Amino acid sequence: MSIPGQLNPPARLLLGPGPSDAHPRVLGAMTTPLLGHLDPFFLELMQETQQLLRDALLTKNPLTFPVSATGMAGMETCVVNLIEPGDKMVICYAGYFSHRMIDVAGRCGAQVTILEQKWGQVFDLNVIRETLKTVRPKALGIVHAETSTGALQPIAELGKLCHEYDCLLIVDAVTSFACTPLKVDEWELDAVFSCSQKGLGCPPGMSPVTFGPRAEAVMSSRKTKVQSWYFDLTMIRTYWTSGDRAYHHTAPISMVYALREGLRIVMEEGLENRWARHLRNHLALKAGLTALGLKYSAQEGHQLPQLNAVYIPEGVDDLTIRKKLLTEFGIEIGGGLGDFKGKVWRIGLMGYNSKPSSVFMVLAALEKSLKEVGVNIIPGSGVAAAELAYSAK
Ligand SMILES: *Cc1c(COP(=O)(O)O)cnc(C)c1O
Repeated sequence: MSIPGQLNPPARLLLGPGPSDAHPRVLGAMTTPLLGHLDPFFLELMQETQQLLRDALLTKNPLTFPVSATGMAGMETCVVNLIEPGDKMVICYAGYFSHRMIDVAGRCGAQVTILEQKWGQVFDLNVIRETLKTVRPKALGIVHAETSTGALQPIAELGKLCHEYDCLLIVDAVTSFACTPLKVDEWELDAVFSCSQKGLGCPPGMSPVTFGPRAEAVMSSRKTKVQSWYFDLTMIRTYWTSGDRAYHHTAPISMVYALREGLRIVMEEGLENRWARHLRNHLALKAGLTALGLKYSAQEGHQLPQLNAVYIPEGVDDLTIRKKLLTEFGIEIGGGLGDFKGKVWRIGLMGYNSKPSSVFMVLAALEKSLKEVGVNIIPGSGVAAAELAYSAK
């Protein structure tokens, strides 16, 4: 048997929907020595990480910690702990990830009402209000930043609306966290989950979650046991949030180091500055993509700075271009998911990768690749438009 060679991954610029490149400081933190998951020094790191998470999520919720798995585990954690068989849940469906929430809720035995909107469009609060009035659900689930379409759902007023109808609000903030404003307490969000590998600039493997007082009250009045052993908060919380620190599962030590470092970087930059940086780079990329003739799939005025989804031009083959970008330039962008498969490209400018060099590189590479398959483009127009956008006030 021959042994595979030493690991030597090719250099890539990860401009897809995630993972995005990890900040070098995060990778550095991950190479520091392991500690035991009950070591007093590690327990302190856990506490610091939780406090950093609260600060970055703008919440005081005691029950705030990272679930030991990717973003989907955060979704399951929120739904399995808040929903019991027979409970009514409304899910706003306008893209691939909201469809997943429907699946997860169904598996928990929820009676799901689907409120549908065209992919790429956002929901009108009045329509949501009408649905809450007629269905009277226990919870409403919505995706804040729909990564499959590039649309940013306005949710600042949604928590108040849900609470008028005694309904919990569960928010998928996997792609919004640390890229665009997310104000858990001010917006009255009851349960929120995210991930480590998008806006936070860490590797995939952790899913920050936070539960507010209303969600805590619902959990403490459950009549049935949580269906999932691994994600049952009644047990996990004794490790993360009580003085007991009872063993539940071995914390992924290096990932906690990574998350702590990623969050330190977020707080050093400052939330407002970070949101503004994502917006500035998005506007430059958008100017460039528009100059190349590409059109956004999400509704104007509701486009995600961190995930630019654009329609693939007529007659251009999706894979041919993505393969060129990857092999000739080392740039990864995303293809479409679900209804948008083969129809859109998704260009991420997330966390560490939201910077002018990413914008200029992807625009130049895209222009060259599109020209090679016969698309008519004025030379340099994409890069020039981005440059102009950066110099505009
Ligand atoms: C990426 C993503 C997820 C899933 O996260 P994983 O880390 O891949 O498990 C869920 N929701 C949205 C909106 C996402 O973009």
